Amino acid sequence: MDIVKSTLQAVRERIAQAAELAGRAADAVSLLAVSKAVPAETVRDLARQGQLAFGENYLQEATEKIRALADIDICWHFIGPLQRNKTSHIAACFDWVHSVDRIITAQRLSAARPQERQPLNVCLQVNISAESSKSGIGIEAVAELAGQVWELPGLRLRGLMGIAQAGGDVARQRAQFAQLRRCLDELNRQGLALDTLSMGMTDDMEAAIAEGATIVRVGTALFGSRINRTTSV
Ligand SMILES: *Cc1c(COP(=O)(O)O)cnc(C)c1O
Repeated sequence: MDIVKSTLQAVRERIAQAAELAGRAADAVSLLAVSKAVPAETVRDLARQGQLAFGENYLQEATEKIRALADIDICWHFIGPLQRNKTSHIAACFDWVHSVDRIITAQRLSAARPQERQPLNVCLQVNISAESSKSGIGIEAVAELAGQVWELPGLRLRGLMGIAQAGGDVARQRAQFAQLRRCLDELNRQGLALDTLSMGMTDDMEAAIAEGATIVRVGTALFGSRINRTTSV
């Protein structure tokens, strides 16, 4: 538990330092702890330290954790690939979805959002590295999809999510994140009101914060490499 406490502190300091360097307030950037392959009890420990936003990639794993931690007020973010047949369950269990990249899945999430809950917060995932292996829509298609998602009653479009190409230097990471920021600025000029740039992970959060990230999604810096995690929940 002390290990978790000190790594959480270290990550918070990295974020604060990067924000300061960029002339931004430390609280302009929020930390999403990516807890895939992390047991529920470790999530609980982190929640005790005041970290209450968690990101999950796999629905089944997430469902078990959400159930095991139902006594804590955690904000759950779905950040993994969206399969059509899973959308109704995701719409019921999560507070945010970062990986919307098709209108059909957006429509399904909207329709399945329980009426008694606030609209589901969503980001459109944009393929900023332009690698064909990556999910996300091309940057040229964002405006049209954003306009459509904006109209869906069960969703609240918050912004854009992107993953930079792994292994690049800082200049290349920043160039990719800057594209996403310009894209968000353009949508806001066209009349949407979006406040979220979900970008930056363990290896590139400084570059993302320099380019305006409002949410960084961090796993490895908090929990170690995935291989060393226990998957039991
Ligand atoms: C796993 C994952 C992260 C966290 O990456 P780290 O490099 O471990 O910090 C962030 N975003 C997405 C979409 C992920 O799948």
